[in-house]
Amino acid sequence: MRVFVSSPLPGDAIERLRAIADVTVGARVGDAADTGDWDAIVALLTDRIDASVLLRSPRLRVVANVAVGVDNVDVDACRARSVVVTNTPGVLTEATADFAFALLLAAARRVAEGDRFVRRGDFHGWTPTMMLGARVHGMTLGIVGLGRIGRAVARRARGFGMHVIYTQRTRLDLLLERALGATFVDLDALFEASDAVTLHCPLTAETRHIVSAARLARMKPTAILVNTARGPCVDEAALAHALASERISAAGIDVFEDEPRVHPALLASERAVLAPHIASADRPTREAMARIAADNVVAILTDRPPITPV
Ligand code: NAP
Repeated sequence: MRVFVSSPLPGDAIERLRAIADVTVGARVGDAADTGDWDAIVALLTDRIDASVLLRSPRLRVVANVAVGVDNVDVDACRARSVVVTNTPGVLTEATADFAFALLLAAARRVAEGDRFVRRGDFHGWTPTMMLGARVHGMTLGIVGLGRIGRAVARRARGFGMHVIYTQRTRLDLLLERALGATFVDLDALFEASDAVTLHCPLTAETRHIVSAARLARMKPTAILVNTARGPCVDEAALAHALASERISAAGIDVFEDEPRVHPALLASERAVLAPHIASADRPTREAMARIAADNVVAILTDRPPITPV
């Protein structure tokens, strides 16, 4: 059996695959090493798995995405060809929630800006008015998508004495809302009431540009936007304009509309904290993501049910 892994992976994932198959490790799907006709593909979120990939691999039985989001995979086309698609839910929940908080804290309290300030040699001593930021403790935090990661963020918010509001398509039951200390509101109300909005929805046709110019205009001028979901959930040009015009106060952004490109006005903004799509990048999490992807492939190729099918 032939397995294509689109990039070197951390941990023992490749060894686990080599126990049952010939494994080719490339630099991405579609590169010179990708000769097609694979039984399985281990893909990254930077790989586009569409009908043309399926056409080149008529034997393909499984696409194991090393991510929880599958917006890079044409799931319907895979289904039509009976190709199983798997993802990596759960193992990256806490790491991603940690990082959403890291970005929120950094944006509110001007951590990255302060770091640049000190390195430039501009720090000449403490003053009572220098680099004043937003108060994190007690904020109203608006969570778009109270799923696995959204809930992990809500649990952290409790420790910061925050008032948590959330929105998604299906309201949670009251007991769960109470346990999480989260109040359901509609999407526009969430943008109006929040001191910080954090996105934890998948990228779908419905959530593409869910943060539009119109929604940014509803936010408080003191508000902060955090995006660790997917870049296209935010209209990046509109966000850059909202920051430049002080329509909102700050942003913490891990994902971009057209990665690895970043809108030049975001790069120029002192109030944007920018990260290179690393929300899940703690070592144990990335090793666990790779291992689950490998184990899904092994399951399918040895005629067992997948562990985490989409
Ligand atoms: P999840 O458990 O499936 O939660 C997703 C939540 O989004 C659900 O509560 C869902 O509720 C909500 N949602 C779906 N469509 C929505 C819409 N149109 N409007 C508002 N809410 C909507 O997924 P998860 O494991 O928490 O992961 C969430 C996303 O985070 C992933 O899809 C991925 O893109 C992203 N992610 C990014 C990184 C990173 O490295 N930056 C790491 C991990 C995950 P309803 O279905 O009721 O609407």
